[in-house]
Amino acid sequence: MSVAPNLTEMLFAAGAADQVVAVSAFSDYPEAARALPQIGDAFRLDYERIVALAPTVAVIWKTGTPAGVAERLQGLGIRVVSIPTEKLDDIATGVETLGALAGTGEVAGAAARDYRQRIAALRERYGGRPQIRVFVQIDGAPLFTIGGPHLITEILGLCGGVNVFAEIPSADPTRARELVMVGAHLDSWHAGTGATDDGAGVLIAMEAMRILRALDVRPRRTIRVALWTGEEQGALGSLAWVTRELATIPRLDSAAHRLIPEAMRTPSGPPIPKPGHASVSAMYDLDQGGGRIRGVRVNRDTVLMPLFERWIAPLKDLGVAIVSPRGGCASDCLPFEQAGIPAPRFLQDPLDYTTRTLHSSSDTLDHLIPDDLKQAAVVVATFLYNTAQRDEMLPRK
Ligand SMILES: [Zn+2]
Repeated sequence: MSVAPNLTEMLFAAGAADQVVAVSAFSDYPEAARALPQIGDAFRLDYERIVALAPTVAVIWKTGTPAGVAERLQGLGIRVVSIPTEKLDDIATGVETLGALAGTGEVAGAAARDYRQRIAALRERYGGRPQIRVFVQIDGAPLFTIGGPHLITEILGLCGGVNVFAEIPSADPTRARELVMVGAHLDSWHAGTGATDDGAGVLIAMEAMRILRALDVRPRRTIRVALWTGEEQGALGSLAWVTRELATIPRLDSAAHRLIPEAMRTPSGPPIPKPGHASVSAMYDLDQGGGRIRGVRVNRDTVLMPLFERWIAPLKDLGVAIVSPRGGCASDCLPFEQAGIPAPRFLQDPLDYTTRTLHSSSDTLDHLIPDDLKQAAVVVATFLYNTAQRDEMLPRK
């Protein structure tokens, strides 16, 4: 018996079709699977029907089948085989496992070999080409994507795409909808290559995420990195996301205001929240070059100061010493701030950011200092982790 459509397909591919006595709802491939008795869907099984059909083995989905199902099936005397489907190669391995189970190892082995060859052909075909940045929209209302270690991200990578959304998923179901965000922008001015504005921010954000992944942290809240575009034209990417997901921001609408980008028009009243508004704890924006982090500015959100004093205590030996009440933002933090989401900013060594590289032909890689970027990534990773693990979301103004 198969408890999910993906497992049904794998059983058929493994040559075990004539041993399958029951499948889950939506098992519609291959065509022959439609004719089999169904035992509920992947998330709600009909145990009376299962008992009546008397399968000896239940194939369950390691990351998808709800907790408790395996135990309940075992309680009915059914042997449970759990198949992981997190990585592309898990599918070939799973087919081989099912073939061994059904005594159809030869058919399964051939199917797995064919599958691996097709993957290798795709890798060969797209491997040498320039990568394409991709946003994967699963649904529009609410806007919903996938990121990080997900099969779809791996498939995209295989075909030369890079998922611009990445996140480290929450390990705590009660807080899984809550987000801690780190952002930087991918667009840059044409004169240089954009190394400091904002390649540095992208590097720091991605390295912070890499550090957290390498430590295999299991954050209570989901940690998401967003690499925006259109920042230089008026925080267009971040504003569009904030407007769609978090809040509508009413703004002055004079003739003079209409001449400037929307994000810079003065808010004329409190933000009008959308459902996502309650679930973003903080947005840490990185768009001030590649200098070492010396502290954090709370932008008059003084309630954050004692908390951040505690967070930087273990970072003193890295030169992080300042928690400042000051702030101000002219980047992708601005729409978040206007929406009432805490958007603290890091205080970085200025280096030659405003005097030389910003928006100039000198914005090139030789103006970045690797050790400074590493220090900044460690500090950002620490803030993301602390924000994700706290009992409460960050207090708001
Ligand atoms: Zn910038």
